[in-house]
Amino acid sequence: MKTDLTEFDVIIVGGGAAGLSAALWCADLGIKAIVLEKNEAPGGQLRWIHTPILNYPAIEASNGKDFLKRLLDQVAKRATDIQTSSVVAAAVESPSRSASSPGDGS
Ligand SMILES: Cc1cc2nc3c(=O)[nH]c(=O)nc-3n(C[C@H](O)[C@H](O)[C@H](O)COP(=O)(O)OP(=O)(O)OC[C@H]3O[C@@H](n4cnc5c(N)ncnc54)[C@H](O)[C@@H]3O)c2cc1C
Repeated sequence: MKTDLTEFDVIIVGGGAAGLSAALWCADLGIKAIVLEKNEAPGGQLRWIHTPILNYPAIEASNGKDFLKRLLDQVAKRATDIQTSSVVAAAVESPSRSASSPGDGS
């Protein structure tokens, strides 16, 4: 079934730590958001950390999966839409953001 993205106020591309954190904040602020994740499961790099995470403020996790579980538990307490296997392809053209070379006057 195709999701109607116009239903959402915010579309979050990527279900890694950043995207899931953004989803938490959107939910708490009453902003209707959806996370689109290209992989079959959310988590991003967290899924590949096999060593303890000891430098995240106030949390010590035994590995990335442990950290991800805590994050997903928080997300699950809110009605957050996470759509996996969804690749976002976007072409953004902005002349003002194009790279400039030394000496071209910009
Ligand atoms: C082995 C390892 C150990 C680490 N250890 C630590 C540590 O101890 N402490 C620490 O602070 N950090 C650590 N990090 C870094 C930390 O994991 C990352 O900084 C963090 O997970 C990045 O989160 P992110 O959401 O920004 O990006 P990512 O985790 O990269 O998530 C991006 C997500 O976006 C998805 N995506 C990308 N493009 C698209 C698209 N076009 N459409 C849809 N989805 C898309 C990807 O599939 C991915 O799920 C470690 C990383 C690794 C690999």
